[in-house]
This record gives sequence, C-alpha cells and structure tokens, in this order.
Amino acid sequence: MLHLWSAGRSDSFCDVTTTNRKKLTDNLAAVRERIAAACGRVKRRPQEVRLVAVTKSASLAAIKELVSLGQEDLAESRVQQLTQRAEELAAWRAKLESPLPPERWHMVGQLQRNKVKACIAVAQTIHSVDSLRLAEEISLRAQRDNRQLDLLLEVNCSEESQKSGVAVGAAVHLAEQVSTLKAIRLVGLMTMAPLVANAEQARFTFVRLRELFEEAQHEKIGGRNFDQLSMGMSNDFEVAIEEGATIVRIGTALFQ
Ligand SMILES: *Cc1c(COP(=O)(O)O)cnc(C)c1O
Repeated sequence: MLHLWSAGRSDSFCDVTTTNRKKLTDNLAAVRERIAAACGRVKRRPQEVRLVAVTKSASLAAIKELVSLGQEDLAESRVQQLTQRAEELAAWRAKLESPLPPERWHMVGQLQRNKVKACIAVAQTIHSVDSLRLAEEISLRAQRDNRQLDLLLEVNCSEESQKSGVAVGAAVHLAEQVSTLKAIRLVGLMTMAPLVANAEQARFTFVRLRELFEEAQHEKIGGRNFDQLSMGMSNDFEVAIEEGATIVRIGTALFQ
C-alpha cells in the first residue's frame, strides 16, 4: 500500500493511504448527497438531518480521516470502545498543528448501569435509554459530575422479542417519567429497524416512532428540547428521512 506522507509525520493523515482517503471522501460525499436527495423528496432541508458516524467497525486511521474531513458527530455502541477511541482521538488531536473542532460522542448501544459512569465521561448524548432505572442512574451520575446529558429513548418499534428498547405501548409513559429527571434533557426518540431485504419494509417502524414522537410532543413531554428522531442506518436511512428522521446513524456506508 502506498503511504502519502513520510513516516513520523504527526498530522492527521500520517497513517491513511491515498486509496482509503479517497474512498472515505467519496463515501462521505455520497452519503451527504443521498441525505439531500431524500430530504428533497419530502421538502425538507438537508440541514435538518444530522449525520452521526458510527465508528464501531472502523479503523482508528479511518476515524481520524473522517474527522479531518469535517465529521464532528461520532458514535460507538460499546462503552469500552467509546472510551478507548475518545482517548486515542484526544491524543491525536493534541498533536495536530492546526486544531480541529472537538468531536461529539454519541452512545448508541445497549448500556448497563455499571457502565454509566464511564460512558458519560465521554458521551454527550445517549440514544439507547430504555428503562427508568437506567435513566435514573444517568441522571444521578450526571448530577454528581455537574453535567447535563442529552438522552433519547430507544423504542422497540418492530416489536421483535430479542430487541432492546421500550415497548411501543410503554414509550410515552416512560418518556414522561424520564423527562422529569434532573441533569438530563430528554431530546427525542430512537429506534432500530428490523433487518429487511428492502428498506421499504422498514418504513412502518419509522412511521410508528414518528407517531409516538408526535404523541409525546402533543402531551408537552420534554418541552422544547424534545425535537429529535434518531432513526435510519446504512440500509434504510433514506426511508427514515422521508418519515422525519433528524439524526441518522451511519457506519457501513461511510467506512466500508
Ligand atoms: C452499528 C449501528 C449503526 C450503524 O449501522 P450501519 O448499518 O453500519 O450503518 C446504527 N445504530 C446502531 C445502534 C448501531 O449499533
């Protein structure tokens, strides 16, 4: 493989090959174009949709490259990897000649209560809250650290038994309870669509999440902070945007 820069150079591109850099640049541009096209179909503005890059299967070099290309929102699904990646990026950042804006970390995977402390030391937003006990633990820890965390409730919209997320029928009530906790802001709802051959088959899960979101808004849960719908991944994000997604969480389409 061809390395662009001489060894020892400590800037952003020292360990990414030209091929990888071109691929990432193209992937990012392609994803942004597809977001814009999906927005166009339903008369939304592309700025209404935030792209969160899910880095769980990416190399550190690829993550640095994506950050260098201006991607600021990153997500992990496991606390240990979240902590490790954040540390590695911070060390890299500290050595950059021209500073980059700090990345924002999102936690999108199942979170155990005994990992909350480590998680919130890094993450600003947690998408995968599905119980009051977990939300209470986050609230307590955040309060101790004098922090304010953004939370989304994960809803099991497809009602698959093996899936995490609060049941559809319990979601609005849980949102109401969570919205009263201290040191957190309930900013919205999140769902993961089922694995389907055709993204159209996932549409019903996005519609369901949007309906719950509107129901909660109608009941004034979360107030003005409650305005985020985190739905859509590499295989289905265009359909999710058509149904109102304000955050799409994309891994494969960026890093493959
Ligand atoms: C891995 C993951 C994603 C990204 O999935 P891709 O299909 O790779 O885009 C999004 N959300 C969650 C919760 C994930 O675990």
